[in-house]
Amino acid sequence: MTNGMTAPVGRFAPTPSGRMHLGNVFAALISWLSVKARGGAWVLRMEDLDTQRTSEEFAQVLRSDLLWLGLEWDLETDPQSKRSAVYDRYFDRLADLGLLYGCYCTRSQLHSVNAPHLSDGTYVYPGTCRDLTEAEKAAFGRAPAWRVKVPDRTYSLNDLCQGSFSQNLTAECGDFVVRRADGVYVYQLAVTVDDGEAGVTEVVRGMDLLGSAPRQMYLQELFGFDHPRYGHIPLLVAADGRRLSKRDRDLDMGALRSRMKPEQLLGSLAFSCGLIEKSEPLSARELAAEFSWDKLKKTEIVLRL
Ligand code: GLU
Repeated sequence: MTNGMTAPVGRFAPTPSGRMHLGNVFAALISWLSVKARGGAWVLRMEDLDTQRTSEEFAQVLRSDLLWLGLEWDLETDPQSKRSAVYDRYFDRLADLGLLYGCYCTRSQLHSVNAPHLSDGTYVYPGTCRDLTEAEKAAFGRAPAWRVKVPDRTYSLNDLCQGSFSQNLTAECGDFVVRRADGVYVYQLAVTVDDGEAGVTEVVRGMDLLGSAPRQMYLQELFGFDHPRYGHIPLLVAADGRRLSKRDRDLDMGALRSRMKPEQLLGSLAFSCGLIEKSEPLSARELAAEFSWDKLKKTEIVLRL
């Protein structure tokens, strides 16, 4: 790499629960361009913790769609469904630090508590089960979910897209679940371990996950991983301002592949988000030469296909 800097490592971590829609494609593209513009590596990982909703068939289609787009990965790491033994080790580390406790709250209890709710609909866990006695725990007669205690500390990051962002874990999040009662690990723990072990230095993903970054930064510290740079990219919206979603079937990769060439789609996306000045067909490699975070629009991006 130039300037003696080490090459960045980016990643794309899709949930193989259906065909990619344009929001996913956009996240994949920006993450790929950002590292490829600087000679870095790109890691692919299937986030299939939810085995009910995800499948290897969907993962195969996803890989085929990425290759069609020209977004080649340098390495695919094990899917999350195969890594419980690895997550166990990190979970044990939290236990050794005395940071875990079992939580027996039911879903309805959690949603009815008079705790402040965050803008994304999540609630601040008030610590109900933090100090249960052994007798109280035994009285539940069932396995608990496991929560990690959070410090009264504000985590701040300088996001490549959203600028500075801070969150106090006690006031704005509360102790959070890392393993469900059925033994399945939760996204926050799995993503931190996977990104950390893969040596990821740059996490680019949708803005809806910005509020998760402080929880992941806290776990990174506990597990001894460096913090990556974060880039939480804006949502794509239709010309009328409506948020695009999975329900827009005409914008899933199946429909798009049947009606345009990859260069056309990439050129339109790059134009919509401000990377190029006029809409023209360009390959992913060609776009890498144009990429800079400064050019990227920071608020909602109107899709111009
Ligand atoms: N698996 C998540 C998704 O499909 C992305 C998680 C992440 O990038 O951290 O939206």
